[in-house]
Amino acid sequence: MVLDGCATIMGPQDSVMPIRTDRDMRRWCRALLAAVAVAALWIGDLRSQPAADLLLVGGLVHDGSGQPPARQDVAVAGGRISFVGDAAAAGLDAAVVVDVDGLMVTPGFIDMHSHAELTEDYGRDALPFLHQGITTVAIGVDGGGTPDIAELFAGLEGRIGVNAFAYAGHGEIRERVIGSDDRAPTAAELNEMRALVRQAMDEGAFGLSTGLFYVPGYYATTGEVIALARVAAAFDGIYDTHDRDLGASYRGVGYLSSIREAIRIGEEAGTRVIFSHFNAQGAANYGRAPDGARLIEEARARGVEVAAAQHVYTATQSSLAAYAIPRWASNGGREEMLERFRDPETVRRLDVETMEMLAIRGGADKLLFADPRPELNGRTLAAVATEWELPVPAAVRRILTAGNAAVMNLDLYDIENTRYLARQSWMMTCTDGRTPSPAQNVTHPRVFGAFTRKLRQFVLDERIVTMPFAIRSMTGLAADFLHLDDRGYLREGAVADIAVFDPDRIRDRATYDRPRQVSEGTVHVLVNGRFAIRDGAATGALAGRPIRRPTRTGEIVPDL
Ligand SMILES: [Zn+2]
Repeated sequence: MVLDGCATIMGPQDSVMPIRTDRDMRRWCRALLAAVAVAALWIGDLRSQPAADLLLVGGLVHDGSGQPPARQDVAVAGGRISFVGDAAAAGLDAAVVVDVDGLMVTPGFIDMHSHAELTEDYGRDALPFLHQGITTVAIGVDGGGTPDIAELFAGLEGRIGVNAFAYAGHGEIRERVIGSDDRAPTAAELNEMRALVRQAMDEGAFGLSTGLFYVPGYYATTGEVIALARVAAAFDGIYDTHDRDLGASYRGVGYLSSIREAIRIGEEAGTRVIFSHFNAQGAANYGRAPDGARLIEEARARGVEVAAAQHVYTATQSSLAAYAIPRWASNGGREEMLERFRDPETVRRLDVETMEMLAIRGGADKLLFADPRPELNGRTLAAVATEWELPVPAAVRRILTAGNAAVMNLDLYDIENTRYLARQSWMMTCTDGRTPSPAQNVTHPRVFGAFTRKLRQFVLDERIVTMPFAIRSMTGLAADFLHLDDRGYLREGAVADIAVFDPDRIRDRATYDRPRQVSEGTVHVLVNGRFAIRDGAATGALAGRPIRRPTRTGEIVPDL
């Protein structure tokens, strides 16, 4: 306390402290600080007090910059990285010394698009993520995030296994103000929506997310999103998009037009843009990743900061309604949709359109349920319809009448597209994974293995990208994009989010049949300087924290 006070008084604000007693105070403080420093040296020498809490000795350090790794020791003190280098040469000692010879030491991974269920009892520990080396996750994505960030963060503080940063969701905000109606907001409603974005940004959100593919985001015009993103822009916010049409949308705007729309939103609003899970969907778009990537390159060349994230699976996961019910049928919300299911004429139209929608996705046998309902979990839509002796669209409506269902869409992505995208300098990494509830035996394996699979398949087995490049896509690149100054790199002063891997053993184990298997080869994981995983086993520590958007000095936010 005394030292803090002294440091403040001796700070650069000296010139604005003209009172004579302050000058005396400063002189006194200098003398005290000098005395304390001498005493500390003397005591340190006498008792050989460890200079650090933890020392990781002899690991191959990837610092997150994409540079080749180097054999270095890493020390942690007070939750931060206090030293990177040769500890023996520096005479550095620590309370705990861990030999990591032969292992790979990296910054903790940043998952740029997750559905980690951090507010659920079964999801708080975030173990599927930690076992991949992930120490920070993005939440509030796809337009679904609450704008009540302060309330959200109060519930997370001290109770989560990974760090989390949040976006305010356009869909959530729209729903709150005008419901699920397919119409434009009035001027007053738009102002109300803008005020909610502002509140979220004030409370620490990193930006605005949209799910323009989903209801109700689908009902918004580009202009509406620009108007809201401008509020985020005033706070150095990000525009995070699940864009309108990834290529498999029914009567959508098309894969490339959708990319253009998201770039335009960022460009006109003045935000950075991240495509949540960038890829081209559907067999019609196999091989078309370079076309989409070119639009991003062109935007970057004219100064728009556009980036993206990916995982390497070829299946997606979303909801049955999103995949099989046209958006006009969801207008007004769930009750109105169910009413339409009871109208014979509407049902005739739905019978046709549901089949057309499923055809774009590869058919009913490509939809595999991840839903907790036992009659659905682990089975395809085709198999369920056959068992029920119902035509597929009727089976869809029967399922939805009892509630929307979680479903995977197998083979929606082309692995060649994915390989191409992995090589782009602006491509980060995400799980897009939703923590399964205890009843979800079958769920998307990406929640357990997206990061480790990218390292195993794309780096070690296929050599699509180098290890430093892949690790950068999971660490430094993300931190730079987020303007997070003290995470994402393994360097002195950074927060001690650290992962240690055995490069020979690193692999994902989760499969579509048996997804609930944590990754292998993750030896240690530190979150904010505490072991979350040690010697391959979870410690049970809930060391994560909500991360508020860093505020820039001199930030001036215009009135709405
Ligand atoms: Zn999404």
